[in-house]
Amino acid sequence: MTEPPRTLTGRTRLAGVLGWPVAHSRSPRLHGYWLWKHGIDGAYLPLPVRAQDFDRAVRAVAALCFAGANVTVPHKAAALALADEADSFARRVGAANTLVFGPDGRIVARNTDGYGFIESLRQQAPGWHAAAGPAVVLGAGGASRAILAALSDAGVPTLRLANRTRGRAEAVAHELGGVEVVAWEERMAALEDASLLVNATSLGLEGKVPLDIDIARLPSRATVCDIVYVPLETPLLAAARACGLAAVDGLGMLLHQARPGFASWFGGDPVVDDELRSFVAADLMAAR
Ligand code: NAP
Repeated sequence: MTEPPRTLTGRTRLAGVLGWPVAHSRSPRLHGYWLWKHGIDGAYLPLPVRAQDFDRAVRAVAALCFAGANVTVPHKAAALALADEADSFARRVGAANTLVFGPDGRIVARNTDGYGFIESLRQQAPGWHAAAGPAVVLGAGGASRAILAALSDAGVPTLRLANRTRGRAEAVAHELGGVEVVAWEERMAALEDASLLVNATSLGLEGKVPLDIDIARLPSRATVCDIVYVPLETPLLAAARACGLAAVDGLGMLLHQARPGFASWFGGDPVVDDELRSFVAADLMAAR
């Protein structure tokens, strides 16, 4: 007889991801892999929740003694608002992606997107270091805020932000502080002395037009990071590799941001390695 299927017990620890829609989320596969790898009696569920039901749903899963949950679109700001406590990073960014339910019923909110971004950068581009020079971030949505705050915390001396809608970039710069806004039309010129370029727009996403940028304007030791992960190898990353630049894909950020939540809910120190990357990447490929 082959190995019996994994079964749940009366002591199974529970966590999940709240979003709407949530079917596209890779988090159940990712956390399921770590639970299997570490032999943990736990389960991580997709939890589809409409915006109007979010507060009730969080209190319900907390009452059901879930250990916590991830939160994705469109609930990240609401998750921060309902929490009893939040880490300073989540407060700065104005959004939370991880909730931990304490035994006393308190709901603690965290934002691990910035952590995930920096860990991925360090893993995939070990030659990058914060003091090397300016970083240019394209896009001023939720992901961009977390990345800018994380780069600032890491000690990047100059942060430049360009966004198609300038007002949105100005609002982010005003809220975070220490960020220079560059006109979208001037984004190429902003690359001349940069050590890092980050695409935090949705350009390059499958079905969308690619990002229009001349990366030959970057210095030869620069790193290029694209947080879009479908496709995994975006036109931007392909162009960076063709120029001999270090290239960092978006899958790493997705995987690393999950580590603190897993450690809080299930224990252990889950790692991001080639086996996990292949396991999640295969799912991304299958969905195309
Ligand atoms: P968002 O809040 O919707 O922001 C989208 C950004 O893309 C905005 O800055 C928007 O500019 C820009 N944009 C969209 N279409 C554009 C166009 N045609 N030309 C120029 N700029 C355009 O999204 P988000 O949550 O920040 O996510 C951004 C991307 O990152 C998405 O592709 C998402 O899948 C990916 N992401 C990846 C991870 C990861 O773990 N790897 C995590 C989060 C997000 P405007 O302000 O002018 O509209």
